[in-house]
Amino acid sequence: MTGAISLAKYQDPRWQKFRLQRLKMSEWRCDCCHDSKSKLNIHHSFYIAGRSPWDYLLHSTIVLCDDCHQAEHDLTGQERPAWLMWSEWEVTAACVIAKQINRRKKSMKKRSERADVC
Ligand SMILES: [Zn+2]
Ligand SMILES: [Zn+2]
Repeated sequence: MTGAISLAKYQDPRWQKFRLQRLKMSEWRCDCCHDSKSKLNIHHSFYIAGRSPWDYLLHSTIVLCDDCHQAEHDLTGQERPAWLMWSEWEVTAACVIAKQINRRKKSMKKRSERADVC
């Protein structure tokens, strides 16, 4: 859901202001996993054609860290028609699952690395 908005718009001072307000609202933490160390993204839960990214209610956007943002886009990618929104709990569940998978992948990797040494 990024194609409609050109990158230049995100340099706009109105967007910068919207972004800061939104980040402050979530106390500079990911709304999903409450991570404050990763890079944070402002994710629009929906887009209205022709509207600038800052022409939305702050509440219609979510702050997501890179991992949760990726999970959200993987989940909401293409299949769902635009009129059918993902509910908040679905998004949260997807983030939690994605995080767990990542963590498991990482620990499996660590284990196999250790196995290599043995
Ligand atoms: Zn997160
Ligand atoms: Zn997004």
